[in-house]
Amino acid sequence: MKTANLDFVKERNVAAVFKCIVDNGAVSRIQVAKLCALAPGSVTRITRELLAAGLIVEQEQQDSPRGRRAISLAPAWDQVQILAARAGRTRLHLGLCDLSGKLLASHSEPLQPLSQTAFSRQLIASLQSFWQTRQQHIHRLAGVGITTPGLVNSTTGIISFMPHLSVHKLPLAQQVSQALGVPCFINNFVSSMALAESLFGASAGVKNSLFVGVHNGVGAGMILDGKLYEGSSMAVGEIGHMQIDPLGERCYCGNYGCLETLVCNPALEQRCQKLLESGVPSVLGDNADINAICAAANEGDQLATVLLKEAASNLGKAIAMGVNLLRPDCVVLAGEICQAIEIINPVITHCLKTQTVSTYHDTTKVVCSELYDSPWFGGYALVRRALLEDGLLTKHISKPR
Ligand SMILES: [Zn+2]
Repeated sequence: MKTANLDFVKERNVAAVFKCIVDNGAVSRIQVAKLCALAPGSVTRITRELLAAGLIVEQEQQDSPRGRRAISLAPAWDQVQILAARAGRTRLHLGLCDLSGKLLASHSEPLQPLSQTAFSRQLIASLQSFWQTRQQHIHRLAGVGITTPGLVNSTTGIISFMPHLSVHKLPLAQQVSQALGVPCFINNFVSSMALAESLFGASAGVKNSLFVGVHNGVGAGMILDGKLYEGSSMAVGEIGHMQIDPLGERCYCGNYGCLETLVCNPALEQRCQKLLESGVPSVLGDNADINAICAAANEGDQLATVLLKEAASNLGKAIAMGVNLLRPDCVVLAGEICQAIEIINPVITHCLKTQTVSTYHDTTKVVCSELYDSPWFGGYALVRRALLEDGLLTKHISKPR
């Protein structure tokens, strides 16, 4: 038992030192000791291991005022790669990043499996072929990160529900890990993007943020005190299933009038089509998609503007409930509707002003996602978190390249 505890402490200290170097970019051993509250001797020992494993490098810094050479430690960004995938409802996006998040290669293909077996099979085959044909970029593959819609347990690696495909306890992380021979981490797409956004995007540098994604569905991800909130079971951030209209349409979840039935892209597109068919004048043609609706609204088209303002008002109600509960520093809005942010943002902000408890501080700001067009960032963020916080690093140190 004592040995296990010692291993745990060592693992935690090694991860803390590596995270400190990654977070700070270039830092001296003395600074690391101070920031991690570790004895200088421990830092020297740990950094020796990280150097031997090729995970960090020594850099000569400019001379100090007394003319002494200073050595700092920096992450070996290009020595560690992460394979990331977003398996959406109709498309699979793959990305290969280095540790810093720089995209080295990407690939996208249609994904419309008829069964969970076909889903896993296509995903694994695509990952294998993508990996094999990008060998020139890979020094050390830290792991694979996969994001999907639905109820995903990031701890067990099992998907228990997908909105577009019937699944039964799909052990996706284990299947991928076995097939590829590297650790695999999975999570819900929206939660993972909330994490990515807090690392590099619109919510970087703030401790608490609420990420709201509007696409084929509507979901939220919460960063609380700098960490992704995952709850006791998987169904967190289900903002799309807050009831907005008790007499509304039936949702696939079984309830009525969920936010999702009112504001997701297909709902807006269908409502637009109905209004067009009933003769409401608009520049929009039949079967206009969300991109066309946003473009028309930006040009002043009344139908498109009213439609988006209505959606923003419903979305604003749900976001206001979230703000009352969590009081985040900012709300990050992601999805195609962000193309009409100047139309929807004033409506959402008005909802926050009128439906949340006012504080002496500014109202929580609503900002647009900066990473929505980079779907691989969610998977990247999962592996990065595992490497810096969840013990994955130890595997790479015990197995130097
Ligand atoms: Zn629902």
